[in-house]
Amino acid sequence: MLNIVIIGPQASGKGTQARELLKKFDFFYLEMGSSLRKAAEENSPLGKEIDRMVNKEGILVPDNVIVKVLDKELAKVKKEQGIIFDGFPRIVSQIKLLDESLKNLNRKLDLVIFLNLPDDLVFKRLSGRRVCDKCGKIYNIADLKESDRKVCRACGGKLIIREDDQPEKIKRRLAIFKKETMPVIDFYRDLGILEEVDGSNKAADIAREITSIIKKKSHDYH
Ligand code: AMP
Repeated sequence: MLNIVIIGPQASGKGTQARELLKKFDFFYLEMGSSLRKAAEENSPLGKEIDRMVNKEGILVPDNVIVKVLDKELAKVKKEQGIIFDGFPRIVSQIKLLDESLKNLNRKLDLVIFLNLPDDLVFKRLSGRRVCDKCGKIYNIADLKESDRKVCRACGGKLIIREDDQPEKIKRRLAIFKKETMPVIDFYRDLGILEEVDGSNKAADIAREITSIIKKKSHDYH
């Protein structure tokens, strides 16, 4: 029953790895971006406020709102389940929020997995990303033949570049990651609970490495 944070730059494959872990272990997966998008659909003053920040302005949601979403999500976790946090904590002030919420549940953070990826690969992966404008399926042009790069194989929709995958936007997001999120990573490294994994390896190899880190940690835990 480990409580884990998975952290890394965009395109490092955090979501993919988290979903792999769900196939093997009984974790509750708390993906903050996705929880916020869900909260934004609610027809309440708070829902509308979140919608403005997340979907319209693309700014970080303040901690007092994050706490509400966090506690609502954590109320769904079953006692015997571990938790994987993805996209949270993203800034230093959120380290304390996580700590307090876990304490309220008589839990603590056991492990932080840092999926590291060099800037040039973040760029390559994000700028090659295409999204179907009809069904939302995500592709990378590196995996597609020249002739398959414009039309979705699943539904025939048009493959487009997402607004936030434009080069200038990618640069901005990376700069924010370095300034705001790297200090979170440094904090957990100093605390001695961080494991760094090379995100440029093949997804299947990364999954094996993370699985063995988790098994070892669970063993130490019991
Ligand atoms: P993501 O899906 O991780 O790209 O997150 C989408 C949006 O949700 C971000 O652009 C922020 O507006 C918001 N968001 C996600 N995680 C956090 C967080 N930990 N703190 C504040 N805002 C967040």
